[in-house]
Amino acid sequence: MRDNFSKTVLDTAKSRVSNHCSFEGCWKSLSAASEEGPNKVSNIGVGAHICAAAPGGKRYDPSMTKAERGGIENCIWMCQDHARLIDTDEVRFTKEKLIKMKADAEERAKDELGIIQAVLKLSDHVGKGYELHKKERFAEAILEYSEAIKQYPDCAELYHMRGNSYYCLPDCENAYKNYSIAITLSPRNAKYYYDRGDAFYCFHRYEDAIKDYSKAIDLGIYCKYECLHWRAKAYYANSNYKMAIDDFNILFESGSFTDYETRANAYYMNKNYKEAILDFTTLIENSNENWTFFGYRASSYLFCFKYNEAIADYTTLIENGNDQVEFFENRAICYNNLQCYSLAVRDYSEVIKRNPDNLYHYFELGNAYYGCANFKEAIKYYSFVLTANPQNIACRFSRANAYQENDNFKNAIDDFSMIINEVSDNDIYYKKRGECYYELERYVEAICDFTKAIEIEPKASYYIKRGKCYQKKGSSELAFNDFNKAKEIDPAHSDF
Ligand SMILES: [Zn+2]
Repeated sequence: MRDNFSKTVLDTAKSRVSNHCSFEGCWKSLSAASEEGPNKVSNIGVGAHICAAAPGGKRYDPSMTKAERGGIENCIWMCQDHARLIDTDEVRFTKEKLIKMKADAEERAKDELGIIQAVLKLSDHVGKGYELHKKERFAEAILEYSEAIKQYPDCAELYHMRGNSYYCLPDCENAYKNYSIAITLSPRNAKYYYDRGDAFYCFHRYEDAIKDYSKAIDLGIYCKYECLHWRAKAYYANSNYKMAIDDFNILFESGSFTDYETRANAYYMNKNYKEAILDFTTLIENSNENWTFFGYRASSYLFCFKYNEAIADYTTLIENGNDQVEFFENRAICYNNLQCYSLAVRDYSEVIKRNPDNLYHYFELGNAYYGCANFKEAIKYYSFVLTANPQNIACRFSRANAYQENDNFKNAIDDFSMIINEVSDNDIYYKKRGECYYELERYVEAICDFTKAIEIEPKASYYIKRGKCYQKKGSSELAFNDFNKAKEIDPAHSDF
């Protein structure tokens, strides 16, 4: 049995804080706030239980009566995020703490109402404007406020109120102008900076928004966390990911952090992949239908070299119908790195089927076949790339190696020779071609190549290979010299 609140209790709780979130530092206006932008109306308030409505809930107090549990004293009006937050942690959000939040919020509402009532007294136009604004007749409210401003041109709050009506229209340009006048007349009012920050945010002037939010925080705004939240979003929108993360972490420390999505993206953009993985995991656990999070987490795993985890996410995506080419491609990269080449072959084949124009994928497919020791197929795909782009040295080198592995030494020599024509100072190419000449019993040419390799990089293995050529030719003294030289360079070489 849950002791729920009656409609009367809910309405009372709501109006006692003039429909703001009572959570310390939030004070979100629940008739005009949403994640899409500060001026979108979407969020609705929640009457949360200070002590749970039923046994097993947070802060449940068995000594309370049913009436007390469903009474106004036990109801705190909050935004949905904070209503959820206080029910996750009763160590942090004790009964006493929530009662204090409720009292502070009601005090704040009274103060604000006091300011408004003082301004209302100025003229009938203000009262009319205020009522019209509440009824969302913003254009008419603006006309009334304008009349009042004619009578009291030095009253900052009137410009602030007119700014709010413009903001709700929405007409951010005029909202900004009015807030600016209010700030000139009353430069220490944090709320004016905060509201102008929102106006800047709405027309994507994020740097200006950040400046105003910072000023509001410096002046000690009571809705500090809400202000920090939007500053973090502004930093993010302005590509200052590090600063966004810092603000989100202040919110996190305060227990007022809710925007995992923006923080996750900020971590990702800032290349903090480990942290991004944790946030994307939270997001996935709370909404397993959101495939975007899986995609970002998979990439984060890939960047962290956690290939098995990345494969698991890409597989989930693909099996659930999110079969973008990039998912197959990235999974193939993971398989390649884990040396699961036949699976890489499968994924690269799929990539090519869907996107047959990108030559790079043929090269990768060739490499995967090479990994499978299927050199004939590897050669086929390398050849495809080289036909279109004969200058691709990396691909030619791979094909030369595949030819060599497949005992096509003549073809391998042709490829190595073309590479050496382009790049004449790499010992590896000479050594590889020398090996092919050796297999074909063309010892003179092999000796030439090993000599060239030795000139570039005098390695023990090159002396041994040349020594073997001399041996085959019957020049045992030259062979003996080379073997000795090799021993001198590397006494522990495995070929002795
Ligand atoms: Zn809140």
